[in-house]
Amino acid sequence: MFRFAAKLALVMLMGFQTLNAQSVWNEKTAVKEALRFLQKVEDETIREQIKITEIPAPPFKEGQRAEYLMKRFRDLGLHDVRRDSEGNVIAAYPGGGDGPLLVLSAHLDSVFPEGTDVKVRREGNILKGPGISDDSRGLAVMLAVARALTLHKITIGGRLLFVGTVGEEGPGNLRGVRHLFEKELEEVDYFISIDDVGLKTISTAVGSNRYKVIFRGSGGHSYADFGIRNPMHALGRAMAGIADFQVSSRPKTTFSIGRVSGGTSVNSIAHTVWMEVDMRSQDAEELDKLDRMFKKTVYKALVRENRRWSSGDTLTVEFVTIGKRPTGTLPEKATILQAVSRADQALGIESQYQPGSTDANVPISMGIEAVTLGGGGDGQYKHSLQETFDTTDSYIGTQRIFLAVLELLGVR
Ligand SMILES: [Zn+2]
Repeated sequence: MFRFAAKLALVMLMGFQTLNAQSVWNEKTAVKEALRFLQKVEDETIREQIKITEIPAPPFKEGQRAEYLMKRFRDLGLHDVRRDSEGNVIAAYPGGGDGPLLVLSAHLDSVFPEGTDVKVRREGNILKGPGISDDSRGLAVMLAVARALTLHKITIGGRLLFVGTVGEEGPGNLRGVRHLFEKELEEVDYFISIDDVGLKTISTAVGSNRYKVIFRGSGGHSYADFGIRNPMHALGRAMAGIADFQVSSRPKTTFSIGRVSGGTSVNSIAHTVWMEVDMRSQDAEELDKLDRMFKKTVYKALVRENRRWSSGDTLTVEFVTIGKRPTGTLPEKATILQAVSRADQALGIESQYQPGSTDANVPISMGIEAVTLGGGGDGQYKHSLQETFDTTDSYIGTQRIFLAVLELLGVR
């Protein structure tokens, strides 16, 4: 589809150069043109973002949005557009060389359940709609990058795959990206996830362990059966213990009981109760330590309640793992971070490093150079129905991702 003949001949005469040491920014007019183009069409990128937001994509139900993404990939002239067995959408850029393989990705799923009103409302620079920032922005920016590359017929030094992943949010537990790296793709050298807004760089993967803890007993009448072991009281003891945990602030380590439920009625002794607990750390060892303290505390609560009373069934506890996300940190010298930093410098952006829990956790933990970048603009109330996106100068975010890709793979 490209008519590269003349250009290719020239490249062959000049030899292939990767411009790792120097920014591609000043080297190539096509790059500059593409950057100007991205600024000019940012309104269209934003319209794409709105359109994507209005296609529901609840966890495990990303199909409709995946279909749309496949259609757009095909429209833009990408090759080998397909859905893998987990549901990820994958497409190849046809203008790539045989250098390193980069996966540029954004996630398809939102946190919002089926039936959520996903209509986007616009008030000046502010767009309001569930998922407008996380991660419709990432998907729209990914498409804009593909558009700029194909339209300007930019030949890059490496191979480039575009991927829309499923299951990034909590319930999905990174199932899409895990599949991608464990079963689908071999020899990925670099991974860039575009997630959410702003100009941040996430190269520290915050790990998490999430559990549902279920206490069970015989249950009974609150008056007639008084004196039997009470699962609700065991849960209360466990919660009180967890609430008093002391954790490290550096590396930042956190814990929270997010949900509790159970019981039959006010005048019943419950037979089943549960809580959901989220624990996170930037450091694998700290997370491990916290995990052990948490389990000890729950068992201690169980034993105390079992010993407090002598009748009724002995209470039991079950730990159901809801999610586990691996930790890891890229070294500052990582090639991918240097490429992003060259893009930042070229665009006059001050690099903002943050820890995060995203699709990049998986490759980082596997030793692959991976980073998550914000999609530009700004936003608030993420994961709520009031989620917003501020379009002010959002084109800079699009340009930054585009340039980072070229800085990493080189331009021929
Ligand atoms: Zn996200």
